[in-house]
Amino acid sequence: MKIRAIHIYAHDLPVKNPPFVVSSATVWSLDSTLVRVVAEDGTEGWGETCPLGGTYAEAHAAGARTALTAMAPGLIGAELWPLALHRRMDSLLNGHNYAKAAIDIAAHDLIGKRLGVRVADLLGGGAVERVPTYYSTGVGDPDDVARIAKERKAEGYPRLQVKLGGRPVQLDIETLRKVWEVIRGSGMRLAADGNRGWTTRDVLRLSRECADIPFVLEQPCDTIEELARIRPLVRQPIYLDESGVSLNTVITAAGTGLVDGFGMKVTRLGGLMRMRAFRDLCDARNLPHTSDDAYGGDVIAAACVHLGATIRPDLNEGAWIAAPLIEGHYDPKAGPRVEGGHITLPEGPGLGVTPDKDLFGDPVASF
Ligand SMILES: [Mg+2]
Repeated sequence: MKIRAIHIYAHDLPVKNPPFVVSSATVWSLDSTLVRVVAEDGTEGWGETCPLGGTYAEAHAAGARTALTAMAPGLIGAELWPLALHRRMDSLLNGHNYAKAAIDIAAHDLIGKRLGVRVADLLGGGAVERVPTYYSTGVGDPDDVARIAKERKAEGYPRLQVKLGGRPVQLDIETLRKVWEVIRGSGMRLAADGNRGWTTRDVLRLSRECADIPFVLEQPCDTIEELARIRPLVRQPIYLDESGVSLNTVITAAGTGLVDGFGMKVTRLGGLMRMRAFRDLCDARNLPHTSDDAYGGDVIAAACVHLGATIRPDLNEGAWIAAPLIEGHYDPKAGPRVEGGHITLPEGPGLGVTPDKDLFGDPVASF
């Protein structure tokens, strides 16, 4: 199974009720990048990567397309099997996991379609059909966030992630307390996601003043060194998200006991092959984790859901998809949707979604 052609598309993804605010980014709409990979026999696979603006991570949309354009000529004729494909990509370009992830996802989709199996089965199988998800509130007014928490609790979400940071910490403390008032006793799990936005000083205060609330501190500070500093001083479990930039950092964080779990993004690790290894490392150390991406449409959502369906249930913190926060679908019928706090695993081979390519216009580059 070899690659015959690669088409790269740019697509503006509209954000519902903009802006979506996290401590490191304010987003009005998103610039997503899609790839359509065609095999020698004409079978097609889709991939996607959609950095959350230019300030959330060391990734941006134009960078993704530039990296894909740099690699694509060297990928024509390459083997589609993921390990061979990653070795070829690494021989063409160092780093740029978020771009390589789009090719990796397209390869999984294509191989699944060719073999007539779902991506979840390619990732090891044992998949659940109803995948848990969680809701992510933006950084907002404490009463507004508490109202959203109440609504999502009523919808059946098993977990809520409240975005905090990038403002006076007393507002974050007030938000957490108000959210806890409305979800207390419901069984809904809670994560306070600083998205790298707190100083160690602010985390220590928030941890102390919210000591009676059971929640997870997700990526409270910017660096591994700051996390190591607060680690022995806070009562709450700490999850790593943005600092988990590679399997190497994951192994160190898990192996040194720096964290109690992870928020993990498919594109940050470089795609589904690396994500599968990450899942198995977490299984070995009994570390809970998510299966997310920062944003994106139906293709990246389906990738997150297929991986999410294979996570050991007691470690599964949910597959997050942007569908509740964006307008429309690439695949109006099979595009993943959240219902009752869960996502139904798409049926059909590969990712199980078929994007309407007319939505994306002409490719920005074809090889
Ligand atoms: Mg996070």
